[in-house]
Amino acid sequence: MPIEIAPISRRSFLAHSAAVAGSLAFIGRVQADAADIETLALCSDTHIAADPNTLRSDVNMSANFKKVLQEIIGSTAKPGRLLVNGDCAYLTGQPGDYQTFLSHLTPVREAGIPITLALGNHDDRAPFRAALKETGIEASPIPDKQVAIVPTKHANWFLLDSLESVNSTPGLLGQPQLDWLSRELTKHGDKPAFVMAHHNVEYRKHLKSGDVIVDVADRRIPAAGLIDDEQLLEVLTAHPNVVAFFCGHTHQWNVVRWKDISFVNLPCTAYPFLPADPNGWVLCRHGSNEAEIEIRTLDPKHAAQGQKVKLPYRGA
Ligand SMILES: [Zn+2]
Repeated sequence: MPIEIAPISRRSFLAHSAAVAGSLAFIGRVQADAADIETLALCSDTHIAADPNTLRSDVNMSANFKKVLQEIIGSTAKPGRLLVNGDCAYLTGQPGDYQTFLSHLTPVREAGIPITLALGNHDDRAPFRAALKETGIEASPIPDKQVAIVPTKHANWFLLDSLESVNSTPGLLGQPQLDWLSRELTKHGDKPAFVMAHHNVEYRKHLKSGDVIVDVADRRIPAAGLIDDEQLLEVLTAHPNVVAFFCGHTHQWNVVRWKDISFVNLPCTAYPFLPADPNGWVLCRHGSNEAEIEIRTLDPKHAAQGQKVKLPYRGA
């Protein structure tokens, strides 16, 4: 099971989705009955330091994350779940970082939104698990990794753990985790699958023949991503239910479609490495036929604000 934080009101994801369905009528662009759409909020790279006044590159990471969370709670289509895709802590996964990070999440829990967390290369598994003990951590089927399957009505989300070494840039899934993913994707082959891990697949090495759908900053950072990305791609392409792979890590917003799979790089909520890149969060809506993502940038005037991208289901 994942690093999972239950809402304080304990409302379930599906019950919540049903409750807000009536307010989703404007999502007519997605080919499904509006009442049948599920919504999730996706965040990545929050980089929360123990001291909420910490600045990096003139960015207050705590202030940014709190603003994003208020937007999520207040959004018309209130998401049925929040996923945070790693680098929750500032740099080295200090216990105090997680205390502050968790305190920022309290209003989300009070709003009845369940939360699932993944780990990044600036997290540390032991302090993370210790900090989350009270909110409910269960044993992971992969020793030394925290993996998760989040089932929803129309899809399954597979959250992977690519943290290899704390505060070292590259990531690794490892063969046991890849084997587990392959088995579970087969087992859940009846529903679309969304796979998420902190580290990116190397664009220049593997995805260059794909279609670039979104590219704000021309992908100028050759970030050290997943060491075993080739093995991950073998698993993803072998399972026709895989719709998309979501990563963070590069602090860039981009989408590439390769072999009919959408590769989505979530923006950070913290500090972009390139001035052109937005920070913010992504709203994901999925129905029975397709999914759509929409970026919400922290700078309301950013050119990418409100940008929407369809994520077609393979074979649909
Ligand atoms: Zn990061």
